[in-house]
Amino acid sequence: MADRRLLMIPGPIELEPDVLTALSEKTRSHVDPTFIEVFGRALGRLREVFLAPDAQPFVVAGSGTLAMDMAAANLVEPGTRALVVDTGWFSARMAEILARWGAEVVRVGAPIGGAPSLDEVAATLARGKFDLVTITHVDTSTGVRADVEGLARLAKAHGALVVVDGVCAAAAEVLRMQAWDVDVALTASQKAIGAPPGLAIVMARPAALARHRARKAKVPSLYLDFAEWLPIMEAYEARRPHYFATPAVNLVAALDTSLGLLIAEGMEARFARHARLAGAFRAAWSAMELSLLPRPELAANTLSAVRYPSGADAKLVAAIGKEGIVVAGGLHPEAKAEYFRVGHMGAISPSDVVAVVSAIERAFRAAFGQERRGLAAAQAAL
Ligand SMILES: *Cc1c(COP(=O)(O)O)cnc(C)c1O
Repeated sequence: MADRRLLMIPGPIELEPDVLTALSEKTRSHVDPTFIEVFGRALGRLREVFLAPDAQPFVVAGSGTLAMDMAAANLVEPGTRALVVDTGWFSARMAEILARWGAEVVRVGAPIGGAPSLDEVAATLARGKFDLVTITHVDTSTGVRADVEGLARLAKAHGALVVVDGVCAAAAEVLRMQAWDVDVALTASQKAIGAPPGLAIVMARPAALARHRARKAKVPSLYLDFAEWLPIMEAYEARRPHYFATPAVNLVAALDTSLGLLIAEGMEARFARHARLAGAFRAAWSAMELSLLPRPELAANTLSAVRYPSGADAKLVAAIGKEGIVVAGGLHPEAKAEYFRVGHMGAISPSDVVAVVSAIERAFRAAFGQERRGLAAAQAAL
């Protein structure tokens, strides 16, 4: 029997049938006029999804980590000072990437499940000159959502560029890239943006492009250099052929289809749907007497990081799988064995919430003999 389990991890996610159809179309030449049209349209659609008419999109083959690398490669030169707002393991990865490109990195963090306050970040900014501030919009290892708007305002007041890792947030959590003056926002195709894994997406606004142009030395990596890709992206948007490195033709077609669906739903409606469904999950966790890894006021709308209650452990993940739902284990090295994660982004509906919560109820019963009822609370919230 075909695998009919519902994929509810924090990426990759369940895909819309139209997206899968686009993926399976005959592979065209990357300079075929019909593909140029698709790629050009997808680039324009990304500006709508990020609410940033003045941003330059870069779409290249790679994962979210490559998007992080691309942002860092273009903005960092030896001695660049970067402040990393540290909300978990992916923030730590950003710090590592920045350091590898030669940045002097200062991390401002909090105990696991927390986030530094705006005052703490402001105090660090006041103590030294920073060229960059990086923010993980949702840290997938902790389920913590950062206050991008507030942090961006602080960073701007100190003259720093703002880089947002939106891999587990973009197209689901509210991000007003231009209104909030975020300079770079990045994501990957397999998360809330709703396409298969394989594309790195970097949105760069004018101040970030200007910083790149003002570099003393070339970007050491050819593949990551904005200067190599900018003429390519501009050519596709102008519906002209131009080659630097072969685009992932089928993935771009799938991305374009997904972006079309997102825009048809409307970004505000999409943000609201994610908030509503996440609220229903949180109502269920609380009725089941399960606590979250993140501080409650920081809990993301794209995933839940839920602690195992006493008497239960990581065997729960496999038990939920047997009930037809694929969820993920813990990821943060300090607390890996203490929690599991349910992704709730993309094309999910109230019926999916009901299916997931009832499967988790059955798994608690089957694996640990525990009665934990969350379905009625989820239904009421829906
Ligand atoms: C998934 C994720 C990444 C890494 O993306 P990959 O596609 O796995 O390389 C980076 N940052 C965040 C916040 C993520 O959730």
